[in-house]
Amino acid sequence: MDEARVLIVGAGVIGLCSAWRLARAGWPVTVLERRGEAAAGASHANGGQLSYSYVAPLADAGVPAKALAWLLSADAPMRLRPRWDAAQWQWLWRFYRACNREANRAGSAQLWRLAQSSRQQLDALRAEGLDGFAWRRNGKLVLYRGAAALEHARQGMAALSELGARQRLLDADACRALEPALAGLSGPLAGGVHTPDEEVADCRLFCLAMQRRMRDEGLDVEFRFGEEVVGFELAQGRVRQVWLPGGALPCRHLVLAAGVGGAGLARKLGLRLPLYPLKGYSLDMPAGEGLPALSVTDFERKILYAPIGGRLRVAAAADLVGYDESPDPRRVAGLRRQVMRDWPRAGRLEQAAEWAGLRPATPDGVPLIGRAPGGPANLWLNLGHGALGFTLALGSAERLAREMAGEMAGE
Ligand SMILES: Cc1cc2nc3c(=O)[nH]c(=O)nc-3n(C[C@H](O)[C@H](O)[C@H](O)COP(=O)(O)OP(=O)(O)OC[C@H]3O[C@@H](n4cnc5c(N)ncnc54)[C@H](O)[C@@H]3O)c2cc1C
Repeated sequence: MDEARVLIVGAGVIGLCSAWRLARAGWPVTVLERRGEAAAGASHANGGQLSYSYVAPLADAGVPAKALAWLLSADAPMRLRPRWDAAQWQWLWRFYRACNREANRAGSAQLWRLAQSSRQQLDALRAEGLDGFAWRRNGKLVLYRGAAALEHARQGMAALSELGARQRLLDADACRALEPALAGLSGPLAGGVHTPDEEVADCRLFCLAMQRRMRDEGLDVEFRFGEEVVGFELAQGRVRQVWLPGGALPCRHLVLAAGVGGAGLARKLGLRLPLYPLKGYSLDMPAGEGLPALSVTDFERKILYAPIGGRLRVAAAADLVGYDESPDPRRVAGLRRQVMRDWPRAGRLEQAAEWAGLRPATPDGVPLIGRAPGGPANLWLNLGHGALGFTLALGSAERLAREMAGEMAGE
């Protein structure tokens, strides 16, 4: 078994951070990625938020009722296309069951810990010289259009402050004073919540920086792009080999960090994971004269406007529509319409690059990290980070490495 390496499936932000952390712990690592480069899946052009305070899962009390109303609206932030797919219905049922205050609080606390660990590690990496990924601690302003939503946010701040978040509630004038670009925002504004220490960066550039970092640190990490994992050979309760179209690779430990591809791979290993794609969209464009300095979330419309590397990134939508990654032209047109109506001077919309990606989502919003119960003994998961994969990547890799170190101490 000496030649067998730790095989990580997936070169998105989760796979890359896992590779770095495991190789730093002394493991020889091979990353297998079906596409031609890193960050070609959900990590490609996401919203860029290192959202260390806004970690609450999507599933919460009241969400099912809101979601029903959204089904009737053309530009709704969420969309469901029912399919003949048991996995979709099971996911929805489990999501529905997670829509209560207790589950939301428990999930928030777990995600908070992962997020703070991520923040500490990114601080350390930046102090060691990691750069080139348009990072800024620019702060985040979440805007509320209506008084009722603002009041609800005020109540929600208490839960976040219990966890340790530093936030302040602002009225509409204070929001405009803080972010002068709001002068270009159309429609009503009741107020907002400002979190000064939230950060922003380009996730794809971060992935490339981590790749360079592994090389510069001289870590034993091999990248094999254009290699799709298509199956596994099991023996004595362990994954012995991973099958690629051109042959097999011996496997010491297998880490699934394959984003939405993780569910299908796990099925081949006899496991049913509660993982389903939540499709989202982004537009990336040159800045206009009204580019905000802060990251701004329009809460009721669920649209994010973020300045990343002097450009405007707009991200939105969480559609439960299966595995098709291609942008739905009607969804893109709807997003363009909303940007044009609400914030016409923030960016040069006519030059916007359009993108759609599939968030690997669990029903309760909590990722699957560590040993897979009932799975082969050398199988490890780092999957299901949903809307927070960039934020949670370094903390999740740390958790995985610690669990693996504990289990492998006797090897
Ligand atoms: C519109 C949008 C906005 C978002 N905004 C934010 C944000 O602001 N902040 C934040 O923290 N998160 C955000 N996210 C979420 C974040 O992008 C994801 O959680 C994260 O990228 C998931 O990373 P991953 O590595 O698990 O998956 P991916 O990046 O998808 O990587 C998985 C990789 O595995 C590969 N793969 C799959 N199957 C196989 C196989 N069989 N063999 C070989 N390779 C395989 C895929 O090709 C892919 O490259 C957003 C997502 C979207 C869609």
